Amino acid sequence: MSEPYRVIVIEDDPDVAFYIKTVLTKQGCIVQTFHDPAFAQQAMRLYEPDVVITDIEMPGITGIQVIELVRAVRPGTPVVVMTAHVSVDYAVEALRANADEFLTKPIPSADLIAVVTRLADEFRRAKASMPDPEVVLAIGAHPDDVELGVGGILLGHRSAGDAVHILTLSRGGKGGQVSERQTEAFVSAEMLGARLHLEDLPDSEIAENEPTLSLIAKVVAEIRPTIVYVHSDHDMHQDHRAVHKAALLATRAVRSVSCYQSPSSTVDFRPNRFVAIDEFLDKKIQLVQAHKSQVAVSRAHTSDALLAAARYWSRFGDGEACEPLEIVRDSGDLSFGSADVALALKAHRQAQASQLSQ
Ligand SMILES: [Zn+2]
Repeated sequence: MSEPYRVIVIEDDPDVAFYIKTVLTKQGCIVQTFHDPAFAQQAMRLYEPDVVITDIEMPGITGIQVIELVRAVRPGTPVVVMTAHVSVDYAVEALRANADEFLTKPIPSADLIAVVTRLADEFRRAKASMPDPEVVLAIGAHPDDVELGVGGILLGHRSAGDAVHILTLSRGGKGGQVSERQTEAFVSAEMLGARLHLEDLPDSEIAENEPTLSLIAKVVAEIRPTIVYVHSDHDMHQDHRAVHKAALLATRAVRSVSCYQSPSSTVDFRPNRFVAIDEFLDKKIQLVQAHKSQVAVSRAHTSDALLAAARYWSRFGDGEACEPLEIVRDSGDLSFGSADVALALKAHRQAQASQLSQ
């Protein structure tokens, strides 16, 4: 193997963890063991493993929940679930959660090595054949603007393994308590798996030149986005228009820039791309409603309103729910479906399985 496979083991039994680490280290793998599943997500970010091995049952958490935590950080990462005894219930549950493989304890070392090597190899090959992940920057004037406009699209990017950043330029003092809105913004970004850059410009007085321009330019220089979403110019809210103008200047070197709809968009908002968000609509509604202080005062935050808008725009696009975009600039393919490592892996495994069964 060219570069050693990186493996994370989540197992509360130190003897089992030690055994797995010993066997795989002898094969040249780099193995990190964690007795406390609470570190699963941090470990994913830190070690970027090729395979995760988890126990099915640990105090306070199940292996199924571990799969979800792992995939939220890096979609497509292979997960091996270990069980102490063969149980049909566990197997069905783990399969539903898309575990890649089961191993029944005590695990013969040859099986362990074979499974880990195969999954790591498949994962690396699938990644190598994929385009580089996008770096997405969604810019909004106030907390919740981005979720309302492109919440579904951002969830799509996350599920394709793209990095998502949110830049929010004010803390929304006019629409509620700053401390409350700030907390809501972080909760929502966490749910999305996005990094939040939260600035503190005065709500309702955001300027279209400085300091707005420099704040956006600073984030652009730091993260080098390949795709940007921002407010439309066709919007009644002056903050939204100001952010639109500043962002267009600050992102002029970015390959793809488009504008999203807000509850304050005017009839001049004229989208020319409609992105299907069917599988992300429920989660989008949760993201929007994580801004609890706004749900109480805004009709735009109700499930009905979000659902109706997505249904309406779908008449121009595919599927039954769409988010509309005005394209400012697009010198590349914006579709996130093509970069889905998880899907590619699934297809690869299905092909293998059908070969085996012949
Ligand atoms: Zn706003």
